[in-house]
Amino acid sequence: MDTKLLVTLAICRLIVAVGLTLDPTELSRLAVRGELSAEAADLEAASVDFGGVRRVEPMAVLRPANAGDVARLVRAAYESAHGFTVSARGHGHSINGQAMTAAGVVLQMSGAAAAVPKPLVSEKFMYADVWGGELWIDVLKSTLEHGLAPKSWTDYLYLSVGGTLSNAGISGQAFNHGPQISNVHELDVVTGKGESVTCSEEQNSELFHAVLGGLGQFGVITRARIALEHAPQRVRWIRVLYSDFQAFTKDQEYLISLHGQPPAQKFDYVEGFVIVDEGLINNWRSSFFSPRNPVKFSSVKSDGGVLYCLEITKNYDQSTADTVDQEIDVLLKKLKFIPSSVFTTDLPYVDFLDRVHKAELKLRSKGLWDVPHPWLNLFVPKSRIDEFDRGVFKGILGNKTSGPILIYPMNKNKWDERTSAVTPEEEVFYLVALLRSAVENGNESQTLKNLQSQNRDILKFCKESGIEMKQYLPHYSTQQEWKEHFGEKWERFQHRKLQFDPKHILSTGQLIFTPSFNAMTASW
Ligand code: FAD
Repeated sequence: MDTKLLVTLAICRLIVAVGLTLDPTELSRLAVRGELSAEAADLEAASVDFGGVRRVEPMAVLRPANAGDVARLVRAAYESAHGFTVSARGHGHSINGQAMTAAGVVLQMSGAAAAVPKPLVSEKFMYADVWGGELWIDVLKSTLEHGLAPKSWTDYLYLSVGGTLSNAGISGQAFNHGPQISNVHELDVVTGKGESVTCSEEQNSELFHAVLGGLGQFGVITRARIALEHAPQRVRWIRVLYSDFQAFTKDQEYLISLHGQPPAQKFDYVEGFVIVDEGLINNWRSSFFSPRNPVKFSSVKSDGGVLYCLEITKNYDQSTADTVDQEIDVLLKKLKFIPSSVFTTDLPYVDFLDRVHKAELKLRSKGLWDVPHPWLNLFVPKSRIDEFDRGVFKGILGNKTSGPILIYPMNKNKWDERTSAVTPEEEVFYLVALLRSAVENGNESQTLKNLQSQNRDILKFCKESGIEMKQYLPHYSTQQEWKEHFGEKWERFQHRKLQFDPKHILSTGQLIFTPSFNAMTASW
């Protein structure tokens, strides 16, 4: 369909939905190079996300062709007589509608118009300049052409750069390199006033730190300069089991304490997961165990029916292939896992990084990917993790979980306090990720209602026990809850909002601020 026609359609929807006499020329002046659409299929795609628990239809969707398109749209919203919102959407992998908006336009950053800038790699300075909507899998492919790769990852690569940088971006490398937001040199951002600003530690640093972990509140990331390292060729991927929770966490904490050591003396990745029922040891997130590499669960003694699996990797290439096993042995000797429970596999680096996608394809083929995902991610302080184990893994969850539960510690000193990301006060804290899928198969424990109710019980348990956890990928619906979430950081967060998005038009799906024109609209 012709762009002008689409613009007019979008304008009409805005006028009808807002119920105001919005001047049609307001949006037609945009003259974007990308695709502005009000077609049902585009609106539907922007109305849903991976969580599958919330549905909000926007008035139009813009697939920008470049940063200029983003700036034109946000400026139009900012200068609009009656106002409309703009929500950047990466790959829509949020859980609770964080990238949705009703009173405006979804800016579809991933899968954008073909004209968006391709990744640009500097071998000399070891960085890649990438479009904000670029998926990490494509960043990896581009950098590997130069023998390089980003340092810090998420477990799953079909997420957008802008989407993970708006949260933190964590995986088993975070203990060593920090989250992805600690591995960015520079950003181009379109603020809530529609201004394009380049920012870094040295230049416009307040905006730079605001946007990192900023939940999309201060601007749209159109370019990110990502730190790179030499890409290893292969990975030894090891899993060992524990029945004793304290032995498990003590070993995890020891391994992450080695972050300052030379590469040969530490692992490259430290994660772990909880096995509440046997089905989950070969869980959907990994291609680790296979018929050729099975786990004989019955041979492992478990205490109270719960096992803990430490997952570690060591990267290597031709120059270190001869010493990798020896280095691993030295490290494993210091750990107190169940002796008969060492499982090792070996694979190319790319296959390791892209491991969750294989599982995705399997689940898709069974119709089990597009189901509701009432996920809950928490950062739990180290001093309270034993209590969390007793109260949640061995308590609230019973012995059915409906999905993987990750648990691994991180070092707070690898996180930059100036960013908007929020972590607990203690030097070491754990990610606990309850990544559960709701299925209607007659099993009451796996229904959406039941899993959501369990999530509420877990949050209530933390509150009543005084466990000062922080939600990761947070979801709250009142400003009072957001204030508590940000704690001492709230005042600065609010001040930054006033400075960079004074009309509160960006990423309203996070439900933190109300747009200044909200009084005139039914919902936003
Ligand atoms: P969206 O859901 O599209 O957007 C998320 C938020 O960011 C919204 O508020 C949106 O407005 C804002 N936003 C999006 N793009 C931009 C931009 N360019 N500029 C400014 N704001 C923007 N997270 C981890 O840290 N580690 C993991 O290992 C991990 N694994 C995951 C595995 C799966 C299968 C899934 C579904 C999610 C996983 N996540 C993980 C969570 C993921 O990082 C977040 O959900 C992230 O927001 C998803 O990115 P997205 O591109 O889909 O963002």
